[in-house]
Amino acid sequence: MNTPHIQEAARDIPVLMQADVVVVGGGTTGPIAAIAAARRGCKVVLIERFGSLGGVLTLGLNTKPSGSLLGGIPLEIWNLARSAGGAGADYMATTKTGGVKIASPADPEIMKMLLTRLCVEAGVQILFETFVSSPYVENGTITGVVIESKAGRQFVGTQVLIDCSADADMAAKAHAPFVMGSGDAQATMQPVSMYFVMKNVDLVRLADWARTCDDVPARAIPHDEAGLAYGLWLTGFNGMLRRFQEETGVKLQRDNITLKTTDGQMYVNATRVLGVDVFSPKQFTDAILECYRQIEGVCRFLKERVPGFEQARLGQVSPILGVRETRHILGEYTLTGPDSRGETRFEDSIAADSSALDIHDPKGGDVDFQSMPPYEIPYRCLLPQGVEQILVAGRCISADHEAHARSRNMPACMATGQAAGVAAAIAVQDGVTVRQVPVAKVQAALRAIGMPLRASEITEA
Ligand SMILES: Cc1cc2nc3c(=O)[nH]c(=O)nc-3n(C[C@H](O)[C@H](O)[C@H](O)COP(=O)(O)OP(=O)(O)OC[C@H]3O[C@@H](n4cnc5c(N)ncnc54)[C@H](O)[C@@H]3O)c2cc1C
Repeated sequence: MNTPHIQEAARDIPVLMQADVVVVGGGTTGPIAAIAAARRGCKVVLIERFGSLGGVLTLGLNTKPSGSLLGGIPLEIWNLARSAGGAGADYMATTKTGGVKIASPADPEIMKMLLTRLCVEAGVQILFETFVSSPYVENGTITGVVIESKAGRQFVGTQVLIDCSADADMAAKAHAPFVMGSGDAQATMQPVSMYFVMKNVDLVRLADWARTCDDVPARAIPHDEAGLAYGLWLTGFNGMLRRFQEETGVKLQRDNITLKTTDGQMYVNATRVLGVDVFSPKQFTDAILECYRQIEGVCRFLKERVPGFEQARLGQVSPILGVRETRHILGEYTLTGPDSRGETRFEDSIAADSSALDIHDPKGGDVDFQSMPPYEIPYRCLLPQGVEQILVAGRCISADHEAHARSRNMPACMATGQAAGVAAAIAVQDGVTVRQVPVAKVQAALRAIGMPLRASEITEA
């Protein structure tokens, strides 16, 4: 069936400003890319469709990197959050394949302020409440972006574009090749979820109970009461959830749920909707409505069945739907499952990462959360094919479905953002394209800010 169309009239678009580097998306990754490029002297414009920075990390209420922050700007930010009382100590989470060292969750409100302050101090021009409609491409090279805001449509020129939109919006609209999810005909993708917060939870009672509960097999439980504010992490509840659904008729979508504390509040990851086309506004909205329904059910489960939640109530619902997987660009190299299990060393590594493998089964069922050996991410995964002067960082880098289950974690996203920012700045200053940029120079700059680049340098995982 042919979809009806209307014709939009051509119009002139005013030029708002010219940048050296434009970063699209001020989520988990974008601010790190922007700070990295601006600190190297570039004029950077960071464009974000919402009114605050941090994306899934802050607005999405995710708060917890599933791995260590190993150096550079991400570690600097977490240490600043710690000194502001907005994060705790790293902890070791037990999983079926061993321990994963996890950076403490960070208070999302403090994190929004910190990311913004560091951007402003570095000289980054942030444009909030501004949607980037499309890249502007001339002769196969990106030369700017068209933005849309209350001021209407405007143009921002740039020498390099860093796509941190999470969905590779810019690369895709510039006709760079990509795959959806698994990349096969089914294009299966990890499901969407929406975080929420429960307040008034008795954390001491919950921790005491969980210590001896077989139904919570993956966990980190601090020994001291002070550590509970940022350090309680519990995954499981499978049997209890099954019995609750059988006995009440309430239908939930996950076999397990995850609870974690951030500043003494309980952040709950328990909802799930499968098979959503997140590029369809109608399906996206339906998924939010379904998450709201599930949140009511999970609140009831927690209050009725889990010790410590008796007096708890809903504190906050994330204003955004959490999307785990959509487009993966096809870059100069695609990170594979074996690569992400630590089996490959890359000459052009721009980040070593020790995050957990974290796959939510696209067909439903359980979550596969495992400790794995450290691995390396090559620069080529940030370079889309077929279009010049664009780098992609964050969850949509060139990685297959399995590798993405590691590289989508926040430590890897932030590390690729940092590398993209450094590479963009070097390209601008050396007068070369981002494809020609000398990787050894990018690596030296990353090492100078304390970023390990070799899996063999990580000893803690
Ligand atoms: C429910 C859920 C739970 C997760 N749990 C964990 C976990 O426990 N630990 C972990 O490490 N990782 C976890 N992840 C994965 C991780 O949080 C994400 O993969 C990561 O935060 C993505 O970072 P990003 O910068 O690529 O995207 P985002 O943080 O989503 O940022 C993208 C930004 O781009 C903006 N944007 C997009 N398009 C445009 C546009 N056209 N114009 C302007 N702005 C635009 C968005 O508004 C957003 O701010 C989870 C993810 C989800 C969804």
